Amino acid sequence: MKLGTKLIHAGVEPDPSTGAIMTPIFQTSTYVQAAPGDHKGYEYARTQNPTRDALQNALAAIENGSHGISFGSGLAATDAVLKLLAPGDEVVASSDLYGGTFRIFTKVFAKYGIQFHFTDLRDAEALRPQLNARTKMIWIETPTNPMLNIIDIAAVAAIAKEKNILLAVDNTFASPYLQNPLDLGANIVVHSATKYLGGHSDVVHGAVIVKDEALAQQLYFIQNSCGAVPGPQDCFLVLRGLKTLHVRMQRHCENGETVARFLRQHPKVNKVYWCGFEDHPNHDIAKKQMRGFGGMISFTLKDDSMDAALKVLSGTKLFSLAESLGGVESLIGHPASMTHASIPREERLKNGLTDSLIRLSVGIEDASDLTEDLKKAIG
Ligand SMILES: *Cc1c(COP(=O)(O)O)cnc(C)c1O
Repeated sequence: MKLGTKLIHAGVEPDPSTGAIMTPIFQTSTYVQAAPGDHKGYEYARTQNPTRDALQNALAAIENGSHGISFGSGLAATDAVLKLLAPGDEVVASSDLYGGTFRIFTKVFAKYGIQFHFTDLRDAEALRPQLNARTKMIWIETPTNPMLNIIDIAAVAAIAKEKNILLAVDNTFASPYLQNPLDLGANIVVHSATKYLGGHSDVVHGAVIVKDEALAQQLYFIQNSCGAVPGPQDCFLVLRGLKTLHVRMQRHCENGETVARFLRQHPKVNKVYWCGFEDHPNHDIAKKQMRGFGGMISFTLKDDSMDAALKVLSGTKLFSLAESLGGVESLIGHPASMTHASIPREERLKNGLTDSLIRLSVGIEDASDLTEDLKKAIG
């Protein structure tokens, strides 16, 4: 089955009690048993919920995994994956990570004796010097946030496999429409479903997808034991969002290209970061592992002052100034003070994230209205 069909049908069966074509929101905390232990597979709603089951099966199918495990947020999903580790273990992570991921690594899990090393992995070979006998996990994001760098997933996966280290890929930016890390050798895919999967800026949700039974059972154990589970209504909203992921992503990609090319020829714009440009340093890898280039773009102005950036940030009308990304509506953001404020300034600058960098999540409106809006704001 191809992705568009899976997005609409995978995991979802008509409700057996009524025939309802859409999986109902099973808003219940417990399930009645006929006799102790005699039940229909559902005992308590932290452990199992039918709305969540439908979503988890759909998520597994669209990432070409065997199991999906849902959480109350993307960071709760990250938290669960890190709980596979034990004190003394080490993680090598790509630099230029989502700010909240950097924060949970360095401010939460470092306290429990897990060590994190951050490396620029645009060249996968940069991984080798960071690995040792204690390295248990490699964590990457590609395209990276907000610099839109590309990491070669298959090359990193080959090294991880050789050294018997788990590779986790945060696939939030690309979504399964553009790339499937499990097919490229990753062991774990993480999503903030708050973004493209949900797609309508109306739900916070996270997911982990794997294709290994033992790993799946460990993650279900953590999901149930630690309890960061999503509510059934949120699961319903993500399921509903998934049904149009392919149609939305197609437009995000088209609009992304139009906006990136518009910005690039604008006399007041300095640099545009978008992995679809033929001269993007890792364009070849992007072309190899992705089926399109998405709607995330960052750029700087020739006038590198904070004031000039702030004028654009507050000057757009269709691009709303807000955190987050991946919704149908266009957003504009200032990583240094918003999404990436939790990363120390010197660390940010090392990755090229300057104070004047502007990030766009290009929505699915009419492209000419979006470029017109930016034209007015840039002046
Ligand atoms: C938003 C985001 C997260 C965190 O997800 P939440 O749903 O906000 O907890 C993780 N990774 C990336 C790339 C994100 O954009």
